[in-house]
Amino acid sequence: MWYRVAIAILQSSRLESSRLESSDSSIMGATPSFQSILDDLYDRYKSFNDGQVASYIPELAKVNPDLFSICVATADGRVFTTGDADQLFTIQSIAKVFVYGMALDDHGRDKVLAKVGVEPTGDPFNSIIRLDEHSKRPDNPMINAGAIATTSLIKGNGPTERLNRMLDMFRHYVGHDVYIDMSVFVSERSTGHRNRAMASLMRHFGMIDDRMDESLDLYFQQCSMMVTCQDLAVMAATLANCGVNPLTGDRAVPGCYIRDILSVMYTCGMYNFAGEWAYKVGIPAKSGVSGGIIAVVPHQLGIAVFSPPLDSHGNSVRGIKVCEDLAQQLELHMFDPPMGCSHILERIGHEQ
Ligand code: GLN
Repeated sequence: MWYRVAIAILQSSRLESSRLESSDSSIMGATPSFQSILDDLYDRYKSFNDGQVASYIPELAKVNPDLFSICVATADGRVFTTGDADQLFTIQSIAKVFVYGMALDDHGRDKVLAKVGVEPTGDPFNSIIRLDEHSKRPDNPMINAGAIATTSLIKGNGPTERLNRMLDMFRHYVGHDVYIDMSVFVSERSTGHRNRAMASLMRHFGMIDDRMDESLDLYFQQCSMMVTCQDLAVMAATLANCGVNPLTGDRAVPGCYIRDILSVMYTCGMYNFAGEWAYKVGIPAKSGVSGGIIAVVPHQLGIAVFSPPLDSHGNSVRGIKVCEDLAQQLELHMFDPPMGCSHILERIGHEQ
């Protein structure tokens, strides 16, 4: 029940102020503050060390597997953090969400849909197999093929203008300038043969234009953009807040595309784990191979977890555990029994 999240945060801020004003331990003991919910989650999972850091991009293999952070930003601009919240890492596939929004903004829904579908695949994120079937369209924008296609749609005159437009878009979501990690970019660019093969196939089918190499570079650049876990929470909160960054008040994407973005996150954001995620956690999310996960509770929260070791799907192991636990504690699942959400029935009233 989503309203409970708002109540939990309200209680937490009330408790934070009551902590300053009084030492009434009966109030303090009654409900855990929102910050303490995050601190408890951090403690519970910090020694959980299953999974392997991604190594197919050589630079990513160098990361410290013990890094761990959980951050939440609210749609009204409060930020709660734990652990290594300021540690920079590359955003990887989480960028796909925002570049999809940018392609929609640049071209509108119909043109983007003609080039990239919205069907979950049940295949790994880097699968090339289904590209050769039926429509020749990549299935969705959350897998590599689809993201290369949406990236190819980014408007601009030449590589510099396109990159600057993309960085500018990210800046609105994050609330400050963002930079590319050049060593990760070069590492991806020199080893991304599979991504190059997908781009060539899509070029062959006319799904991407003849700026293929330029678009591939733009794809590797977006994956190599540096963020912190706190940045990711604010980006997710911007989606929760209908496209407006709740800290700066800047609009990052037109509100009319939030529905598109969150729908594909919900059905496709966790790759071939998306069904299980929707079943267990029940909110739109996106992961990346550097170990980040973002999740969005519409109109309320942006959640971000960073922990590099991954499971066989390429999702952060601790990230999944934390989100499952948080969703259960705060009853975030979209299909948890709603309280007071019968507005359609109320509107219909007693009409026959
Ligand atoms: N840069 C990575 C790739 O293209 C992104 C994959 C991911 O995060 N799932 O393979």
